[in-house]
Amino acid sequence: MNCHRCNGLMVVDHFIDMEDEMGCLWMRGWRCMNCGDVEDPEIYRHRMIQSSLRDRLAKMVAPKRARKSREVVPLSA
Ligand SMILES: [Zn+2]
Repeated sequence: MNCHRCNGLMVVDHFIDMEDEMGCLWMRGWRCMNCGDVEDPEIYRHRMIQSSLRDRLAKMVAPKRARKSREVVPLSA
């Protein structure tokens, strides 16, 4: 897996999550060896959903743009 910010190598790491009434929770995530960016599975899942939605939207919008293209005919000869 590569970092979305710098394309560096991401490695599995363990982080302490927010503390609640049950105490500290260990969270497994990804950390970039190059820039230190952290991704947990929830962030990764959310990013994949956004990417999927963006792709679907692009496919929906692209045909509409194609329909808007018109041939330009000069009026003066
Ligand atoms: Zn990085």
